[in-house]
Amino acid sequence: MTTSNNHTKQQLTPTQRSQIKRKSKRGNYETQVIYNILDEALICHVGFTVNNQPFVIPTAYGRINDKLYIHGSPASRMLRTLTKGIEVCVTVTVLDGLVLARSAFHHSMNYRSVVIFGTATLINDPEEKFVALQAFTEHVIPQRWQQIRQPNKQELQGTMVLSLPLTEASAKIRTGNPIDDQPDYDLPVWAGVLPLQTVAGKPIADERLIEGVEIPDYVENYVRNYNI
Ligand SMILES: Cc1cc2nc3c(=O)[nH]c(=O)nc-3n(C[C@H](O)[C@H](O)[C@H](O)COP(=O)(O)OP(=O)(O)OC[C@H]3O[C@@H](n4cnc5c(N)ncnc54)[C@H](O)[C@@H]3O)c2cc1C
Repeated sequence: MTTSNNHTKQQLTPTQRSQIKRKSKRGNYETQVIYNILDEALICHVGFTVNNQPFVIPTAYGRINDKLYIHGSPASRMLRTLTKGIEVCVTVTVLDGLVLARSAFHHSMNYRSVVIFGTATLINDPEEKFVALQAFTEHVIPQRWQQIRQPNKQELQGTMVLSLPLTEASAKIRTGNPIDDQPDYDLPVWAGVLPLQTVAGKPIADERLIEGVEIPDYVENYVRNYNI
């Protein structure tokens, strides 16, 4: 286990590959910080190699405690490859803003990101699979699971679910203003931060919606930036 207690905050211990070297002050190994980023972001990118060829595949995910779950069709190359126990690197990013400096060189972005290393495990136990799919749905849209038809036996069998331990991971966070070169602060160029966030548009009802079905609050008032 690579967790340790530091001032009551659970921290992951950096490994050779998860140790942040560049701008290390932006690094964070606190599990709660990592979990908050994972819970807010919607998609991850799964990196793995097959015969020396790297692939980086975007996909959705869910989290329960110290496990990240990804799912999909058994026909997915990504999922089939990961069941072989190969090393995987998963990244997750929340983009918080554009950092506009006075020089091109110092333009940047404000972000919260996570990089996870490990090997995935195929979930065969139907109960764990069910709970993982629930977490998956609730991650994308909280309160949805209780309202929808939940997966039946056949659907569960036709869905591959993999779990990845959140034991070797790092977060990196940039906040604040641009950092310009001293002489550039005298330039008459607007500089600052343009905040960005994921905002839901107006919901579009399906044409085949049966009469009298109201739009749920959790759809109408969907927000994503709940951990800032
Ligand atoms: C939205 C966004 C935009 C960015 N734009 C740029 C850019 O234009 N140019 C640029 O050079 N960098 C950019 N970064 C930072 C980039 O992610 C790397 O942190 C940086 O390039 C250093 O890479 P490295 O391989 O030298 O890091 P190292 O410090 O050598 O990486 C060592 C280990 O640190 C951890 N780590 C590194 N980066 C991250 C991260 N972002 N999040 C979590 N853990 C991490 C990983 O475990 C990694 O294996 C951006 C990041 C984000 C999220």
